[in-house]
Amino acid sequence: MVTVQYAKGVHLPAADLWLDPRGRKPLAFVSHAHSDHTGRHQQIFCSPLTARLNAARERLDPGRFLTAEFGKKMDFEGWSGTLIPAGHVLGSAQLFFESEEGTLLYTGDFKRHRGLSSEAAGACHAETLIMETTYGLPKYQFPPAEESRRQLLTFCHETMDEGRVPVVLGYSLGKAQEILAAIAGCGFPIMTHPSITKMVAIYAEAGVPMPACASWDPERIAGHVVVCPPNASKALGTLKNCRVATVTGWALDPGTRYRMGVDIAIPLSDHADYDGLLAHVEAVSPKRVLTLHGYAQEFARDLRRLGIEAWALTGPNQMELF
Ligand SMILES: [Zn+2]
Repeated sequence: MVTVQYAKGVHLPAADLWLDPRGRKPLAFVSHAHSDHTGRHQQIFCSPLTARLNAARERLDPGRFLTAEFGKKMDFEGWSGTLIPAGHVLGSAQLFFESEEGTLLYTGDFKRHRGLSSEAAGACHAETLIMETTYGLPKYQFPPAEESRRQLLTFCHETMDEGRVPVVLGYSLGKAQEILAAIAGCGFPIMTHPSITKMVAIYAEAGVPMPACASWDPERIAGHVVVCPPNASKALGTLKNCRVATVTGWALDPGTRYRMGVDIAIPLSDHADYDGLLAHVEAVSPKRVLTLHGYAQEFARDLRRLGIEAWALTGPNQMELF
């Protein structure tokens, strides 16, 4: 089986390949363009859309990206890699790794149900599965996405009916575009924060239908549905006439709306829920599962109870070599 190490990023020593590492590395696979997964590595292996989004966000030289279309096997010295859609944000990829040691699938962040603005996730059999487990507790079962989108539309209409401004919070890459796709037909003009508008342009270029968005002007939000990242909402704080919704999987936790200081929390996530994590393990049918992020220890324990060899890469009892 493929030897795996963990040190602020997954390392496959036989190939000297890092998977979503922190710190600068000679060669890294970057699963998607969220900043907690990217870095200024010498060479970055990723999908063409991740390269485009990552370069736009961090002003990276395009020469450092090695890109591969989904499903196209790329050969390196002693190993090969094939990218499989992860369904998390546009361009997000899982890496199917093959070498003399064996096969391995690394998910990065993923969700199995298809969103409105990203590719449908895939899966393939591998001996080792390294997976994210953000929502790795049984209590995290998301309602159908369609139900949450309806809830979001209802929030927009009711707020407008009250003569107030609906403000919807979502991260600028991925969540904001899911929100925009969900409210595209709401009948109200939409205004987006510049960090979102920049990403929307890349989504539209890639062929994802996106609604027209008015230029950001906090003085002129009346009559618009406003979509902005959580950290930008402070700029709107002085405007008393807003109602604020946040769109996150953590909405399932009681008290989220108070903790986040918003009027409503809507459970729509770009990660797999607990059943989605289990379904992915079943689809990949691995001999060994290594978990990371979120409830890694707890999900690994649940898998062991199901008779599957599983260990957490992160957490207090993490092992260093697998
Ligand atoms: Zn992410």
